[in-house]
Amino acid sequence: MTEQEVKEIAHRHVPQLINALGIDIQDVQLYYEPIDKENEAVLAATDIHHVETYRHAYITLYYERLRDENQIVGVLIHELLHVKLAPIETFFATWERLIPKKQRVAYTYLYNHALERTVSGLQIGLSEGALKQAPKDGSAA
Ligand SMILES: [Zn+2]
Repeated sequence: MTEQEVKEIAHRHVPQLINALGIDIQDVQLYYEPIDKENEAVLAATDIHHVETYRHAYITLYYERLRDENQIVGVLIHELLHVKLAPIETFFATWERLIPKKQRVAYTYLYNHALERTVSGLQIGLSEGALKQAPKDGSAA
């Protein structure tokens, strides 16, 4: 998709998604890049960075990897769920530092797997509902 197409869809959905997910966040900034040049092989459609204890989230949408509104809403929900689960991520990131190095790799792998499975599972259920309640084209928020 083009940057403009992805922007229009993302801007139409983000305010409603933040509200629907009950996310206590001051600011979500969206960035648009054609692809993730640092991780091209991963084929990622998005990336996220949180700063200031998750009060702000910077989400990058790789528009050349995105194909339609369903996928855009899905990836936005996915990244916003990471924001919602930020306290758990903060807990693990802190706890991880206390684990001896040899065991840390295994715990980190298990944690990342469990987190992504949880986020993906929630994303599937929420995406359908979000698309049904979405504002129609041209009524950008
Ligand atoms: Zn994820």
